[in-house]
Formats: sequence, C-alpha cells, structure tokens
Amino acid sequence: MIEQKKSSHTKIDSIGEFTLINHLTKNFSSKQKSTIVGIGDDAAVLNFNGNAVVTTDMLIEGVHFDLSYMPLKHLGYKSIVVNLSDLYAMGANASQVLVSIAASNRFTLEALDELYQGIKLACENYGVDLVGGDTTSSVKGMQISVTAIGATPKSGPILRKGAKENDLIVVSGDIGSAFMGLKVLEREKEVFKVNPKNQPDLEKYTYIIERQLKPEARKDIIKLLSELNVVPTSMIDISDGLSSELLHICKNSEVGCDLYENKIPLDPQLISVCEEFKLDSTTIALNGGEDYELLMTISQKDFPKIKANPSLTVIGYIKDKNSGCNLVLRDNSSVALKARGWGSKED
Ligand code: ADP
Ligand code: MG
Repeated sequence: MIEQKKSSHTKIDSIGEFTLINHLTKNFSSKQKSTIVGIGDDAAVLNFNGNAVVTTDMLIEGVHFDLSYMPLKHLGYKSIVVNLSDLYAMGANASQVLVSIAASNRFTLEALDELYQGIKLACENYGVDLVGGDTTSSVKGMQISVTAIGATPKSGPILRKGAKENDLIVVSGDIGSAFMGLKVLEREKEVFKVNPKNQPDLEKYTYIIERQLKPEARKDIIKLLSELNVVPTSMIDISDGLSSELLHICKNSEVGCDLYENKIPLDPQLISVCEEFKLDSTTIALNGGEDYELLMTISQKDFPKIKANPSLTVIGYIKDKNSGCNLVLRDNSSVALKARGWGSKED
C-alpha cells in the first residue's frame, strides 16, 4: 500500500494559481501540426482540415479511483489513456488533450507533480499535446476531467451503429484482467487495514494489476487495421464490460448476435486468479470492465486479412434483430446476453 511521503510537502494554497499552473505545465511542449496555440493564452487554437472528434471523461476520487492503491503517476497516465481509448474507438487518431484538476488542500505540490509525470508520460507515449485545462481547489478530494481531441479517419468515423447481419464480432487483446486486478488490490487493502506492516506479495498478480493500474489504449490496433486495409463496420471500446458494449453495438445497429463463450480471449493469469477467488472467468470477462480493448464488427470478406493476427480474436457473429443477443455456452446451449457493467451495479 502507498504511504504518504513525509520529506517534501509544499501546500498548494501556499503558491499562487498562476505559479502552480506554470510549474505543472512547464515541461510540456506541443508537437502536433494541428496545434496552433497551446497552453498560455485564454484558449487553445487548433487546425483540422476535416472533422474533429472530441470526448471527455471525469474521474472522481472515491468513485473512480482510490489513492490508497493507485499511485498518482498511474492515475495521471490512466486519466489520459481512458479518453484516448474513446477516440480510437471512433477509428480516429488523437492529437490534443485538456486536463482540468480540482484538488483539496490535502494534496501537496509534490503530489500534483507525480500526477503530471503520469500525464506527461501518456502524452509522450501516445504523441498527444497538452493544450490547456483548468486548475482549481476542491473542498474534498481530487477530481480530474480530461478532454481529448483528434481527427476522423479518411474513411469517416466508425460508429456503434454500422454492424450488419453476418458480420464477424472481433475483440483486441484479452479481457477481464483489469477487473480482477482491482479485486486483488481491494483485498490487499483490507489486509493492510488490519496489519499495516504487512506489505503484500503481488508477484503472481503482476499482469492483472498492471491492467488495472496502467491500462493502455489500443492505438496500435487502429494502425494495424489500416495496414491490413480493414475498416470495421462498427466499433466501441470496452470500458464497462464485453456484454454491455456488445449490447450497445447491437442496439445501435438494430441487430442481434451470437457470442461464443469458448472464444473469449482470457489471459492464463486471469484464469488462475478467478479460480483462487472462486469466480467464473466468463462472468468476469463479460461484466468486468476497464479493459480498454476494442470491440468491433467486420465484414466476412475481411476475415482472411485478420485471421492470422494474434491481437485480434473472432468471438461471434452478428445476426438479425429477431434472433436476439445470445451467449453460446461451451455445451452449445444459448442464454440471453445481459448487461451487468459497472454502471448497473447495485449500490
Ligand atoms: P483562465 O483564467 O483564462 O481560465 P487559467 O489561468 O486558468 O486561465 O489558465 C491559463 C492557461 O493555462 C490556459 O492556457 C489554460 O488552458 C492552461 N491551464 C490551466 N490549468 C491547466 C492544467 N491543469 N493543465 C494544463 N493546462 C492548464
Ligand atoms: Mg482557468
């Protein structure tokens, strides 16, 4: 668990807002051609020849993150990545982000520096410019709002509504791990509360914890699809869980689907952790969330182009609307697919 660093603690209310913004953003420089004016004026100026794609997401302490197991650097990184993932899910590229932060006096300048180190790393890794934001105090806790901007691909944005009967359902990477990473971290937090001297051994959970704390957005898949000359008929990123995302595609496209349980890509570490927790790995993959993989539908004619690729797995077929949305189990029986993403969790 993360202990507060006692060595340096500059109170944020001891420095002026201007100095704070300047301090946090001084190491950022703009590299994108479309950035005309970045941080430092009343507003940023961007130049897009075609359509711009814009998305925003809020992260609230206590709702979306828990700083007792989420290092601030990872939080900064993740806050950018989750927004970029939404742009890639439109088939778009990502070129600019704006970051607004509200932090209570509990946070020091050094803490915000850590957060911005993560933001900077994500901006560098994904090649996006930080072009603005807002900085304000909050009565309690930390809130982060990120807006990401990019350009649509030449072939147009890939929407949720384009899936057609007989299309293949394809997912990138593997799913379910981010959710079980969270389960492990929550369990260790409870152990830590009872015995703070007991630092957990998380060696055998490295992959699933990394999927939770340092998720990546699949920029590489957008590049791969373009190299393979495949334009998905619909696409969405998996933030709430495979089943609810697939239901979004089906509802928006007015189609049904068959999703095959035995085709869902799972990491071996996820399978063994599910056994340890006595949880069904299919249920976790369907309902977990925060995997930030891409779920898409492609035309059958494109199957030869993707079939040899280890990053893409065919997990089912689009059917007509009257067939409904079904999960085909290992014994070949079918059950209705249900959305039980995080959003519909009971509280
Ligand atoms: P204003 O008073 O016009 O809102 P600010 O003093 O809040 O201006 O911001 C000055 C500049 O710094 C603007 O370009 C703004 O977008 C940028 N900025 C403010 N806060 C942040 C932040 N947390 N991250 C990145 N840029 C920021
Ligand atoms: Mg402002």
